[in-house]
Amino acid sequence: MINQSEIDILRQASVPVGQHLIDGKKVDASDGAQMDVISPIDGTLLTKIAAGQGLDVDKAVLAARTAFEDGRWSGLAPAVRGKILQRIADQIANEAHSLAVLGVRDNGTEISMAIKGEPLSAAGTFRYYGELCDKQYGEIAPTAPGTLGLVHHTPVGVVGVIIPWNFPLMIGAWKIAAALAAGNTIVLKPAEVASLSILRLVDICHEAGLPDGVLNVVTGTGLDVGAALGRHMDVDVLAFTGSGPVGRQLLMYAAQSNLKRVYLELGGKSASVVFGDAGNLDQVAKVAAGAIFRNSGQVCVASSRLLVERSIHQDVVEKIVKIADEMTLGNPLDLSTNAGAIASKTQMNNILRDCDRAAADGADLKLGGVQRAVDTGGFYIGPTIFDNASQDSSLVQNEIFGPVLAIQPFDKEDEAVRLANGTNYGLSAGVFTQNISRAHRMIESLRAGVVHVNTYGGADVTVPLGGVGQSGNGHDKSPHAMDKYRNLKTAWVQL
Ligand code: NAD
Repeated sequence: MINQSEIDILRQASVPVGQHLIDGKKVDASDGAQMDVISPIDGTLLTKIAAGQGLDVDKAVLAARTAFEDGRWSGLAPAVRGKILQRIADQIANEAHSLAVLGVRDNGTEISMAIKGEPLSAAGTFRYYGELCDKQYGEIAPTAPGTLGLVHHTPVGVVGVIIPWNFPLMIGAWKIAAALAAGNTIVLKPAEVASLSILRLVDICHEAGLPDGVLNVVTGTGLDVGAALGRHMDVDVLAFTGSGPVGRQLLMYAAQSNLKRVYLELGGKSASVVFGDAGNLDQVAKVAAGAIFRNSGQVCVASSRLLVERSIHQDVVEKIVKIADEMTLGNPLDLSTNAGAIASKTQMNNILRDCDRAAADGADLKLGGVQRAVDTGGFYIGPTIFDNASQDSSLVQNEIFGPVLAIQPFDKEDEAVRLANGTNYGLSAGVFTQNISRAHRMIESLRAGVVHVNTYGGADVTVPLGGVGQSGNGHDKSPHAMDKYRNLKTAWVQL
C-alpha cells in the first residue's frame, strides 16, 4: 500500500526528457525537435519529449522488421519468451509506486485509482500472457484419411501500437504483452500527453531481458508519428485504442498503403438502466457515480448515460447528485482525492464546450459544468450531472470523455432498451434489477461488448474487452486477444 509520505517524496523526482527507443537505443528525434509535456495538476512544464517524424518511424519499423526476421524473439521457445514476460511483470510490480506517481503527474488520474489501474494492472497483464505463451496449441483438422490438415498459429510480424492518454500502462500492456507473447515485434506510439510512464515501462522490458529491436517506441503527435505508422508499408497489423475519428483515419491509411489489419478499440456512450426493482438505491447510486466519475470520466467504458424508471427517477437523481457533490476534487496525488484532473487543457475546454451545449439544448443542469480549482493552474472539472436529456441531443449521442452524466427517465423495459441502444456506439452497458429473468433479457437485448448486472466496470485480464458498432472491432485481454497478433497457417500433408 502506498502512503502519502511516499507519494510526497516520489512527486519531487526530476523527470528526464522522453526520447524514442529504437533498436534498444535512446535517441532524439531525427531533426532534434521536442514538444512540451504539461502537467494537468498545475499547468506547469513537466519535461519535454522527442517530437518524432516519419523518418523516426521508418527507423523504428526497420529495427522491428530486422528483429522479427532474424528470429531473436519469434525464434525463442514460447516458454523462454514467457519467462521474460513474467520477469517484466515482476519488475513492473516492484516499481509500481514510482510508475504510478510519474503517470499521474503526466495525466492527472487519481493516485488511488492509478496504482491499481495502471502499473499493477500492467504487471498482471504481462504475467498472464507470459504464462499463456506455452499453453496454446495448434490444430489437426478432421480431414479424410490419407491427408493431414495442420493449422499453425504464426506471428504476424511487425505490430504498430497506438494508445490513448487515459490508462497508458494498462492499455499499452494489453497490446504489447499479447503481441509479444505471439512472437511479434512492435513499434509503439504513446499519446503525446501521457508518454512518460510507458517510456519507463519499455525500459523495464529491456532491463528484464527483452532483446533490442523487439519493442521500439516513437513519441510525438498523432498527425506526425501516428499517421506515419498507419501509412507504413511494412507494418503488418495496427492495434489502436482511441477515438472514433482517428480510428476512421487509420482505416483509410491502411487502405491507402498495404491493407494492414487494423484493430480499433474506440469510444462509447454507455448506458446503465436502473429498474424500479433494483433494490437498494443508495448502493445503485454509489455504483452509478463511480461508473462515470472515476478518472473524471476519462474511461472508455464510463457509463455516461443513466436511464432510470420513472417511479424511482427523482429519488435516484437526488442520491447521485448528493454523492457526486461530496466527492473530493483536487490534486490527484493526494490520497484523499477522488476527482482528479482532466488530462489536458484542450480536453478540459472540449468538455466545458459540450456542457454549455447540453444546457443550451435543454437538459437540466443539476451539478457542475464549470471549471474548478482555477487557482491551481491545473485542469479540473467537477462531477457534472444533467437530467431529462433528450435522446437526439448531442449530450446523449456523442462521447464527451469527461465527468458528465446524462440522466433520462423511462417507463417500460422495451423503451429502456431502445434508448440504451439508440446511439452509434456499443462498448459497454449496465442493468440494475433484482429480477433474474429481466437481467438475462437485458443481457441479450443490450447492444454492447460488455454488459454489467448490478455492478459496473469490474473486469480483469481474463475477460475480453471490445465493442460493437462504432465502438470498434477486435478484443483486448483474455486468450482471444492473441488472435489479433497471429495468422492462421494451414499445412496439407499427403500421407
Ligand atoms: P485520440 O484518438 O485523440 O488519440 C489516441 C492516439 O491516437 C494518440 O496516441 C494520438 O496521438 C493518436 N492519433 C491522433 N491522431 C492521429 C492520426 N491522425 N493518425 C494516427 N494516430 C493519431 O484519443 P484520446 O483522446 O487519446 O483518448 C480518448 C479516446 O480513446 C476516447 O474516445 C476513448 O473512449 C477511447 N478509449 C477507448 C478504449 C477502449 O478500450 N475501447 C480505452 C480507452 C480510451
